[in-house]
Parts: sequence; structure tokens; C-alpha cells
Amino acid sequence: MSDLLPAVRSFLSSPKQLLIDGDWVDAKDGRTFATVNPSTEETLVQVAQASAVDVDRAVVAARSAFESGPWSRMTPRDRSHLLWRIGDLIEAHADEFAQLEALDNGKRVEAARDGDVAVSAELFRYFAGWATKMEGTTIPMSVPGREFHAYTRREAVGVVAGIVPWNFPLLMACFKIVPAITAGNTVILKPAEQTPLTALRLGELLLEAGVPAGVVNILPGFGDTGAALVDHHGVDKVAFTGSTEVGKKIAAAASVNLKKVSLELGGKAPNIIFNDADIDAAIAGAVLGGYFNEGQCCVNGSRLYVQRGVFDRVVEGVAAAARAITVGDGFDANSQMGPLVSQEQHEKVLGYIRGAVRDGAVLNAGSADAIGDRGFFVAPTLITGVTEQMAVQTDEIFGPVVTAIPFDTEDEVVAAANNTVYGLAAGVWSNNIGTAHRVGARLRAGTVWLNTWHADDVTLPRGGFKQSGWGRELGSFGLDDYTELKTVIAELR
Ligand code: ADP
Repeated sequence: MSDLLPAVRSFLSSPKQLLIDGDWVDAKDGRTFATVNPSTEETLVQVAQASAVDVDRAVVAARSAFESGPWSRMTPRDRSHLLWRIGDLIEAHADEFAQLEALDNGKRVEAARDGDVAVSAELFRYFAGWATKMEGTTIPMSVPGREFHAYTRREAVGVVAGIVPWNFPLLMACFKIVPAITAGNTVILKPAEQTPLTALRLGELLLEAGVPAGVVNILPGFGDTGAALVDHHGVDKVAFTGSTEVGKKIAAAASVNLKKVSLELGGKAPNIIFNDADIDAAIAGAVLGGYFNEGQCCVNGSRLYVQRGVFDRVVEGVAAAARAITVGDGFDANSQMGPLVSQEQHEKVLGYIRGAVRDGAVLNAGSADAIGDRGFFVAPTLITGVTEQMAVQTDEIFGPVVTAIPFDTEDEVVAAANNTVYGLAAGVWSNNIGTAHRVGARLRAGTVWLNTWHADDVTLPRGGFKQSGWGRELGSFGLDDYTELKTVIAELR
């Protein structure tokens, strides 16, 4: 590819290894796997594939860095400055990260640079501020005739395994690494097998910034690498983002030593549009909410519920906007949507669309056929005539597929919207302030958007109700899951 930056070419020209204890090393058994460009289906580079033996090596390094390395003696202020430095380095290499992400994941270069990479840099800066603010409280005690001084301390949990998916590869890596090291933990990160490259480039920058050996270890691999981390007795906490199916396996496996677990899992967000909404804004929100990141985003609004008075207008508006989206290579400046991440995802998403058509649903935009004969492209699709029982309506598809169903009353739509095992995100469009807030309060989801979609900030907690997860990430709540609370009681004699 002619427009690749020299830094990206140079990064891709060497085999990619594991980061363990500050060194780049091959997998002990020498295994590697190919990572593929989803726009061209060409192999980009071979990547070392970590096995359980490598997991062991990384756990030893992370434990030692946690307990006895310079990390355990670093002051919060020095940690804060280090985090800020990493944010600056990410920003300085933003174009390079954006190209690597577009190559490995398929998303548009511009979307990667302005979204994934910019927010990753901001995460380091936001949490840099928290490193010096891990405060406890003093708590009065009432014991007749005796005096005490009692207080709490927030301490790091220990060795954290971060296991992440492929939809926002760098950003998800940062979601795990940043709060964990802010709180003084050490980390072993397992990137998704589809998209290991930006995490490996981040590893290089972490070393350049001065993160001590063993504090962040990076182990590319498949599900068995993740499972070896979850099974390991030397890991104190698992922070996972991915499917609900794997999340359940992790929760079960983590019970071997009752390691702490936080889970950010699947979603099937309802997006509810009332007759009295600003319909143009709602249509734009439905398009952004439905097709953002090629539809591969757990908080996308994949289930549209539209009040009957505006149903036809909204369906026509969303379908027209979907048809106008140019799908193509993430490196092509004309592309407005890239390919899906992998052949597996491509087949899965097209399978859902074909299933809906077979069951009698109507495609108002999009197609059950692939676009072109190379690359994992799918047209943004809008489906009507679906029932609540169809797989396209119940399952998280993780592709550019939106369904639309009409409704009449508030009670009816709230019941339908909540009729899902998921509870990650939801949205309401109404110009009646009472309707918007009332319905927002009735929706069982960790994030509710009113008259907007995908508005976000690193300051805001996120996470799921129901089978969408355990715990919250980011914001002031984002450190809680990476700390243990210690109570200290001293008798004043
Ligand atoms: P997706 O459906 O988005 O691909 P997955 O839940 O399958 O998400 O994968 C998310 C991450 O979990 C990936 O890094 C994957 O390798 C890892 N993973 C898959 N299976 C397991 C498992 N049994 N234990 C731990 N990690 C796993």
C-alpha cells in the first residue's frame, strides 16, 4: 500500500513478539499466527502466539514488578507524570496508530485517529489526575472507655489480566491498562487474535515512556491464551470486554481462586423515537447509533422502536441515509464505512440478514449479499417486518444491521425495549422533557441517551445491567474495580 507511513512499514517489517518483563520475546513453543487486513484479506504479519507457558512467565514478571520492583516504590506523583507522558507519546504517534488500526481492524483511518487514538491518549491524561487522588476516609468509632483512630486505604489488587476484543483494539487495551496501572497494579494484556498490532505498538511506547519491566506485559493469542490467564492462580483480577458467552465462561473459571472479575459484555440497545421528537435529529441519531464502527459496537442502537405516527418517515429517512453510505477500504478517503473485521464475522452477519429475509422480514436498505469478492464488506442494512422472536431482533449481531418496529404506547415500548437479556445502552428521542426522563428511568441499561447517541466522555462511568456485565469502567468509578479497600484500626494508648 503506497500511502503507508515509513514508521508503519518499519513496524510491519519485523516479526511481532510477546512483551514479557520488559523484553520482546518469541513464544516458548515458537508458534505464531497471521493477522489479516480485512479490506484485502492479505496477511499483514505473523505474530507470536502465547501459550500457557508464556502466561506463566508473564505472571511471574508481573508479580515481581508488583511486589518488589521500582513500580511498588514509585510515588503517585511519578506515576501520574508517567501516565501523562504516555498520553503525549500516543498523540505524537497518532497517524501511525490510526494506519495500523485501519490495516488490522478495517476501520477508516480518520475514524481511528479522531476516535480510538484520540480517546486513548485522553484516557492516560484523565487517569494521570487520579493517581494522586486515591484517598481514603477517617471513620469515627464508639467504644466506651477506649480511643481509636480508624481509616481506610485504597490499595492495588495485584496482577490484573486484561482480555479485550477486536472492535476498538487500542482503545480497549487502554481501557484495561490505564486504570489498572493508575491504581498501582501490574497488567498482562491479551489483545484479540484478529487485531493484535496496535497493542504491540503501544507496548513499545510504554517502554519508551519509562514504564518499568513487568508492569505491562502483552500476550497475543487466541481464547486458550485468555483461558490460561483466567485459570492462573497468580492472577488477582480479570478485566474482560467481549461477548456474553465468553464472559460467562470467565466468571465460572475465575472461581478457581475467586479472583476479582469485571465484565463488559454484549448489548442489543433499544433506540426509541416518539412522535414528538425532532425527527431529523432522531434519524441522524439512529444512523450514527446503528452503523457506527461498521455496527461493531456493543452500545450501538440496533433495535429501533418508532411511534406509529412517524414510523414511515423515520424508516424512509434511515434507509435513505444507509443507502447513501459509501462502503470501502478504510484507507480510501471516500469510504464512509469499512469492512467487518474477519471472515467469521462477515459470514455471521450475512447469515443473520439472510435468516431475517427467509423469515419474511423486509430489507429497506442493505443486502444479504456481500459487497465485492474481496474483503469483508457488508452494506448498512435496515430491516422491518420483524417479530420480537426473530434472531435478528434478539441476538447481538455486531454488524451494520438495524431493525425497526412500530409502537403505540409508552408502556408497550418500555416492555419491548426491556425484553432482552442485555442491558448495556438505550436511548429515547422526545421533545417532551417528562417523557424523555421518565422513559429513560424505566429502561434497564447502564447508559441511557436522551435526544442523542454515542455522546461520551472518559469522565463517565459505563457498564451493563443484566447479562451485559459486572462493574463499571472509567470516570471516578473506574478505579474502584482495580482497588481493594483496607480498613486500618489503631488503638490510641
Ligand atoms: P467477540 O465475540 O467480540 O470476538 P469474544 O468474547 O469471543 O468476543 O472474545 C473477546 C476476547 O476474549 C478475545 O481476546 C478472545 O481471544 C478472548 N477469549 C475467547 N475465549 C476465551 C476464554 N474461554 N477465556 C478467556 N478469553 C477468551
